[in-house]
This record gives sequence, C-alpha cells and structure tokens, in this order.
Amino acid sequence: MNKPFKQHLIDPEVCIRCYTCEMTCPEQAIEHDDNNVVVNADLCNFCMDCIPVCPTGSIDEWRVVKDAHSLEEQYSWDELPPQEDIAGPAGDADLDALDEAMAALLADAHQGAGGKAKAPATAAKPTINLHNLGKPVEAVVQGNYRLTDSDGNVDVRHIILDFQGHPMPVLEGQSVGIIPPGTDAEGKPRLPRLYSISSPRDGERSGYNNVSLTVKREEHGVCSNFVCDLEKGDTVKITGPFGATFLLPDDPEARIMMICTGTGSAPMRAFTMRRQRTVGAKNGGMTMYFGARSPKDLPYHGPLKKVPESLLKQHLVFSRVEGEPKEYVQDRMLTDQPAIADMLKDPKCYIYICGLRGMEEGVNSAFSTIASDMGTDWLSLRDTMREEGRYHVETY
Ligand code: FAD
Repeated sequence: MNKPFKQHLIDPEVCIRCYTCEMTCPEQAIEHDDNNVVVNADLCNFCMDCIPVCPTGSIDEWRVVKDAHSLEEQYSWDELPPQEDIAGPAGDADLDALDEAMAALLADAHQGAGGKAKAPATAAKPTINLHNLGKPVEAVVQGNYRLTDSDGNVDVRHIILDFQGHPMPVLEGQSVGIIPPGTDAEGKPRLPRLYSISSPRDGERSGYNNVSLTVKREEHGVCSNFVCDLEKGDTVKITGPFGATFLLPDDPEARIMMICTGTGSAPMRAFTMRRQRTVGAKNGGMTMYFGARSPKDLPYHGPLKKVPESLLKQHLVFSRVEGEPKEYVQDRMLTDQPAIADMLKDPKCYIYICGLRGMEEGVNSAFSTIASDMGTDWLSLRDTMREEGRYHVETY
C-alpha cells in the first residue's frame, strides 16, 4: 500500500442501508452487517461506480490515512472519525472536493482503450486526489533540463519537483495537475493541466520526495510555457495524484509492451526505472516502440542509449529523417510482428499506449493485422485484455 492514502468510507449517520452501493461495486469491496455498510480498503480500486447510485450521498466520504480503518472499526462506528492530523497540507485539505475536472480529463484520455479501464490485479493501490484545487501542495523546482536538441522541432523539458516535507505518494503511470499562475479571460483562477509522472514511486532520486515530469512547450500554451520556463528554486502549485488504472503490475514476470510518441514516453520512463530498481537490469521483459520526427526530437534519446537491451528492448522510430523513409510506430509494430504476436499470446503481457491521440488509429490497425494473422479478432482480444487490467491507453 502506497502511504498515506485516501480511504473510501461511508457515513453511518446518513446512510439509509439500501445496499445499492454494495450491489453496484464491481470489486465486491462493499459489505454490511446489522449495523453498518462498510468499504474494504484492500479491494476498493476507486472506480467510483458506487458514487452516483447512492441516494443520500453518504457514500462520498474520504479520509487521508496512514493506515486503513479496518472493517471491524467501520462496523463499530456511529459516526465517521475526524480527519487524522497528517503532517503537511494534506491534513487540512478539503477532502470532500473530488477534482471532477481532472477525473473527466483522465476518463477522456483513457477512451482509446475501448471501454472502462481496469488496473492490473497486482498493481499497488494508488493514492488519488490527495491535493485538490482548494488546497494544492507547493513544490520547489529542483531542475529544468532540455531533453530535445535546441535545433530540433520541439522543446521538451525534464522538470524535477521536490515536495519537501509534504506527502505526495505517487505510482508510476499516475499524473499530477499543475496550476498555472494568473487568471483566465473571465478573471477566474486558471485550471490545472495534467502531466504524467516520469519518475518511479521512490523518487526521481531514490529515497527523495521528488518527482520528474516530461513537458512539451506548446505554442501559445499557458501552462506548458509556464512549466518550461521554470527555474531552479521556483515554486509550483500541484494537485493530485490522479489516475487509478494506468499502473504497473507488481509481478516481476509480467511482460510490458509500451507504445508511445513524444511526451507519452513519460510514464514509460517511470515504468522502466521502477523495473530497473526492483527487478534489476538482467531480465526486464520490457519492449518499447517509441516514435518521434527525428532523434533530435525524441525525449531521453541520450539516456535511452545507456539502458541495456536485457531490461528494455527499444524500437526508436523516426518519421522525418532526411534521406530515410518515413517510419511510424505502427510500421515498426508490423515489422516486429512475430515478437508482438508472441506477446499477445502471453497472459502475462501488459500493453501501454501513451502520447498524441492521433497515434491510436495506426496502432489499432497494426494490432488488428497482427491479431488477424494469428486467427484472432483484435477487438475481442483487446476487450479481454482490458477487463484483465492488461490493456491501457492514455492519449491527449
Ligand atoms: P493551453 O493554453 O491549454 O492551450 C491548448 C492548446 O491550444 C495548445 O496546444 C496551444 O498551442 C493552443 N493555443 C492556446 N492559445 C492559443 C492561441 N492564442 N493561438 C493559437 N493556439 C493557441 N503534456 C505534456 O507535455 N507532458 C505530459 O506528460 C502530459 N501528460 C498528460 C496526461 C494527461 C492524462 C492529459 C489529459 C494531458 C497530458 N498532457 C501532457 C497535456 C497537458 O495537460 C496540456 O494539455 C498541455 O501542456 C497544453 O497545455 P497549455 O496550458 O500549455 O495549453
């Protein structure tokens, strides 16, 4: 369990014991006795299916805790306990306010999976919505390094943020929100933009309370320009973490297929570093298809060269290199068809697709061809994999 974390609870004073939530929960995380209806923190995966069906709103209760309230404790309650005093801004966070705008953005980014995404069964339990719009956490910029060549087409930055003493428990594959300073055209505070975390859970530097992000400067973009111009020592207001499904299985034998473009490489870097730190370099079982216009525009091109093939098999694919034919990730997937077919047959294979929304069509079509040559229908295979928490898409 990633700690502290936000625990889902039910308010015994308001609940009318209709058990609709219990019947709705796909994880069987909700149960009851003669006294109370309670949520099993080991099973709840924050899918939120129970929230809209509750007629009283008693289901929408959350506490940030260091250790989960047990079922026995919850059965004995007449009222909810107060929020524990956890050091840092989390202790006084407005815990009732789930950041709906961020949840909607993420749901939209995950649409390409073709249905409701599920976390891998062995993934660690994520903390979500610990810091929200009302009470963001302040991080200090530790570094801002350009990842792409200055004479290339894109400016992508590696940003390191330190949370000092404030809790920010993240998992690989999650995102944080950055609140750009200032107000919008209507004079309202600006809304946060989401950025994938590109460092592993134990920190950009192992054992430190810091994370890294991979941010591309967008022409006229409010937040990306703010972030790409940050200097060491600047402070940034952060919300999150967000995301409860695009997560790494905690199974060292799981095979990981990663398909990405541009800043979609951020979660893939986090996954690779996590594997490197846990499984080691010898047998990572990871394969990556990573597309960019040219090596100059491919974030982490230099560092990737040092990653051993035994940990990560790399397919770096370029669409605009002078004198060479254009190649996109879907083209390389087809060239590498036997390896992909082998992974698709393996029940321990997990697929992650991240980057620009435009990549989805080509990737889907390559999977369709490969699956069809295996005598399998891609859409049903994809749906099975998704239901098993093995197929993940995050595009924006
Ligand atoms: P905005 O100001 O919101 O503008 C949006 C777009 O409109 C921009 O493309 C901008 O070029 C254009 N625009 C704005 N003003 C003008 C104007 N006056 N004239 C012409 N065009 C204009 N991004 C990353 O870089 N790295 C990540 O890891 C990452 N992860 C993400 C994860 C998720 C789940 C999601 C949903 C998004 C992610 N994004 C990521 C995208 C990020 O959240 C922002 O959308 C992106 O940085 C653009 O925000 P912005 O404030 O700079 O642009």
